[in-house]
Amino acid sequence: MSLTVDLQPSSESLDSHNTRAQRHPPSGISVLVVGGGPAGVYAALECWRKEHHVSIVERNPVARTQGDFFNTTPHVIEHIRTNWSELGEEKERIAEGSWVSYHRVNGQLMSGPEPFDWKKAGIEDDGSPAPARMYRHNRPKFLGMLISQLERLGIRNEYGCRVVDCCENAQKAGIVLDDDRRLEADVVVAADGIGSKSHRLVNGQEIRARGSGLAGPRAAFPVQAICDDEELNKHFGILDSRHPHFQMWIRPGVHMSMLRTNDINNGAATESWNESVDADSAFQYVSAVKDFSEYAKRLIRASPEGGIVDWKIMWRDPQPVIISPLGRVVQGLEDAIYLASCLGLGGKDNNQRATKIHNRLRFERVSCCQKVGFINQARRDTRDVELDPSMIKSEHGRWMWRHDPESYPYNNYSRALDHLQNGAPFQNTNTPPGHTHEPWSVDYLMGRVEQGLPVEFDGGWS
Ligand SMILES: Cc1cc2nc3c(=O)[nH]c(=O)nc-3n(C[C@H](O)[C@H](O)[C@H](O)COP(=O)(O)OP(=O)(O)OC[C@H]3O[C@@H](n4cnc5c(N)ncnc54)[C@H](O)[C@@H]3O)c2cc1C
Repeated sequence: MSLTVDLQPSSESLDSHNTRAQRHPPSGISVLVVGGGPAGVYAALECWRKEHHVSIVERNPVARTQGDFFNTTPHVIEHIRTNWSELGEEKERIAEGSWVSYHRVNGQLMSGPEPFDWKKAGIEDDGSPAPARMYRHNRPKFLGMLISQLERLGIRNEYGCRVVDCCENAQKAGIVLDDDRRLEADVVVAADGIGSKSHRLVNGQEIRARGSGLAGPRAAFPVQAICDDEELNKHFGILDSRHPHFQMWIRPGVHMSMLRTNDINNGAATESWNESVDADSAFQYVSAVKDFSEYAKRLIRASPEGGIVDWKIMWRDPQPVIISPLGRVVQGLEDAIYLASCLGLGGKDNNQRATKIHNRLRFERVSCCQKVGFINQARRDTRDVELDPSMIKSEHGRWMWRHDPESYPYNNYSRALDHLQNGAPFQNTNTPPGHTHEPWSVDYLMGRVEQGLPVEFDGGWS
């Protein structure tokens, strides 16, 4: 491997005066993040806070903050609030605190509108309140907020750098760009999304997502199209409480969601990140749905031409190993906080050990989170869903949203190290209480659903 350029920003450019975040002492570790999406940018910010030398490379020529909405779980929100107080204020300003209502596919109301409740009905109260709202963020605004913070801190974010491969040796990790430049750092974080260029090195092959059989055409557009139509405004209006309104319409095999906000977006969602379809094609999905309401069809017609994203829902098997054989390339999706902490705990000379520990601490939890997504989806496809509104509501256990991703690595690093080095017993505590990890695959779970068998959690998933 020949690595020729070391991408390290000068430490003078990193301006601690532009944030209230507390930095750790300098670690001397260089980290190169591939991908300037939400995961890569937050990983870079966290590496900066743990005082690693960090830079990002992004294939797009400029920052592209496209998309519509995504949800952020309360424990991540809490992490931002506690550790990046200025971002905490900003994300409060840009988040949607929508109320939720549940409907049959003909529009008939089953329950709500009500504030989103993270606590499953019937769960014993541990005395502390559950988060009382959903944080649904407009992706362009959320990513824009993170990128602005990078800029304020002077973290180097190089656009127009398309990575074609990742590599490593015992001393350094590296990336190869499409112009043949090679860049190196102590650790590479591959946050380049689902088609990551790190798969060859980390997994030996491309990791393919599996079709779920579900497609979710989605569109976000200025609210004027609704306001101008009396009937749509009646059904999709702002609530008396002035809260934005998120409606879920469900029958087995058909899930439709609509979010009406006061201020929706900058229109960037019309440039899809995927294939777009027109309203006629979107109608293919609803034409077979018996009793689908006329006014919901009108809503689809109101979307701008070419503005519906043809969003296929894909599943991926849990990946037990997200680090390269020598431990210098880490696939960085949702684990920014653990990873930056583990690198700091390991210190400059122990990057490979630190990434192994990171992998050990995060895998079972991520696998459980993935399973929650699958199970919530599967529950909505049971026949009971049209009779029992509680079947519609997603379940997210306390173990998920009460987790503290900042302290967990600090509290568990040395025990996990003892486990890896000396075989000492070690059990993660960031999964549902009483849960014992068993490997599972999407094929296995889908097979159970097809046979009409339940897919359930073991342990206390509350
Ligand atoms: C433009 C866009 C809009 C989206 N909008 C939504 C949405 O509104 N709602 C939703 O739920 N999901 C959306 N998604 C799906 C997306 O997977 C998640 O919302 C979320 O963005 C995942 O964050 P991430 O940082 O892991 O990956 P991504 O957001 O996919 O970011 C990966 C980044 O890596 C860069 N990259 C990829 N390959 C390379 C390479 N070879 N070299 C260098 N850089 C590379 C990409 O340009 C991108 O900036 C969107 C994805 C994209 C890319």
